[in-house]
Amino acid sequence: MSIDIKPEFKPDGIEGAGFFATSLDKVVGLARANSLWPLPFATSCCGIEFMATMASHYDLARFGSERLSFSPRQADLLMVMGTISKKMGPVLRQVYEQMAEPKWVLSMGACASSGGIFDTYSVLQGIDRIIPVDVYIPGCPPRPEQVLDGILKIQELTKSESIRRRDTPEYKKMLEQYGIE
Ligand code: SF4
Repeated sequence: MSIDIKPEFKPDGIEGAGFFATSLDKVVGLARANSLWPLPFATSCCGIEFMATMASHYDLARFGSERLSFSPRQADLLMVMGTISKKMGPVLRQVYEQMAEPKWVLSMGACASSGGIFDTYSVLQGIDRIIPVDVYIPGCPPRPEQVLDGILKIQELTKSESIRRRDTPEYKKMLEQYGIE
């Protein structure tokens, strides 16, 4: 029995008999997008939906992200899920700062994105008040399909990002606005 394997994604480039040429940006983007290592910063119920996303039915491993990291040093996708209290804010920010570039941030659910129903003095009204966010997933809680959609959107970002973006004045200015060096 022969199996016809077709690549799902091939970057733009020039090809001919026995060769394929493309730009370094595209190859690096492709590798990064399909080997994201998430750090799950889960504080409450949204974390349970993430566990379902990791399990066999939704199987995040299909997108190359099955290798979770609980150390910021070996992670490039910070996934924030759940209510973040103001007391927890500095801890989250420290985790973000300890991650090496390039890194991306996914805010999952209403609580992480806006404080959700907890419009109280003790809850941070959105993590983008302390760290930059790349993709927001709406919902309370979002379903695993939405989490997968968020990961796919992060993959689109990583594929299209220039390898020099992190050195640009615009990127540094954005970090400065958060007081991050
Ligand atoms: S958004 Fe809803 S499900 Fe997610 S942590 Fe907040 S209350 Fe829980």
